[in-house]
Amino acid sequence: MRAFDYLRAQTEGEALAAAAQDGGAFIAGGTDLMPLWKAGVAAPDRMIDIGRLPLAEVTAGDGGLMLGATARLADIADHLEVRRRHPAVAQAIEASASGQVRNMATVGGALLQRTRCAYFRSGITPCEKLEPGSGCAAVAGENRLHAIFGGGPSCVATHASDLAVALVALDAQVRLRSLAGERVLPLEALYLPAGESPTRETVLEQGEMIVVVDVPDAPGRSLYLKVRDRASFEFAVVSVAVALEVTNGRIVRARIAAGGVGTIPWRLSASEAALTGAEVGEPAYRNAAALAADGAQPLTHNGFKIELLKRTVFRALVQAGDQA
Ligand code: SF4
Repeated sequence: MRAFDYLRAQTEGEALAAAAQDGGAFIAGGTDLMPLWKAGVAAPDRMIDIGRLPLAEVTAGDGGLMLGATARLADIADHLEVRRRHPAVAQAIEASASGQVRNMATVGGALLQRTRCAYFRSGITPCEKLEPGSGCAAVAGENRLHAIFGGGPSCVATHASDLAVALVALDAQVRLRSLAGERVLPLEALYLPAGESPTRETVLEQGEMIVVVDVPDAPGRSLYLKVRDRASFEFAVVSVAVALEVTNGRIVRARIAAGGVGTIPWRLSASEAALTGAEVGEPAYRNAAALAADGAQPLTHNGFKIELLKRTVFRALVQAGDQA
């Protein structure tokens, strides 16, 4: 384990200035960063603790929810307005990690979890993320839990976050701040597919921090469904977040994102298009589910994810459609 300097930031300006220099990393809950540091995978020179900054509010306003970057996952899942307006957010959080981790983990940290590849997390090479140019152990190795979308010969690691999948389906925006000012992005645009960019997982610049996630209100119903190898403290083998708006028995808007299958939270555009304008009911859900794996590129050990994804989409649509 490598030594690092520690700064408990008293103001946002202090945190941003410290993080603008190479080797700085933000920390709040530390539930992802500390295990990686112990494994020797993350080696920041300087940890900048933003846990005391006033960024932990969860606000339910007229147009939607505002989730502060350091709000704890457990508090968000318990928030009555979160549960009422966007059940998928609470369901995704409750399906994440363990109760102890959710008490510590924050929104910003959950969205910026490093990839879940076991080779990477154990510091095993060849791995393009750990040692650019070395290759990828998973492509020809153990890849049952790796990606069928968004990968390439250089990296096929799946995106880790349940919350990000739900928030992408809900069309959330992220507010980012740095010494250069503030910018706002759709959450979906924050992530870079590993097949194209193995060493860079997001578009965040050095010193740039997530400060708030905005989740717009939308009529209809959302739902998050996760399939995993064991009932708790486990990443998704496949997960699906669905947001449906129904008027007079027809689906007028559908957004679907999948987890456990892509190197980023993966939008199922063909399924969304098939649902839009269709009558609610099983024929439309079956049709959409059949298109869910469009463009998938399975590896040697994860071809089963194609059928599992289709079935999970169907189940999620049946459950969400019944309530929409
Ligand atoms: Fe490394 Fe990506 Fe290959 Fe995993 S899948 S070993 S993270 S390059």
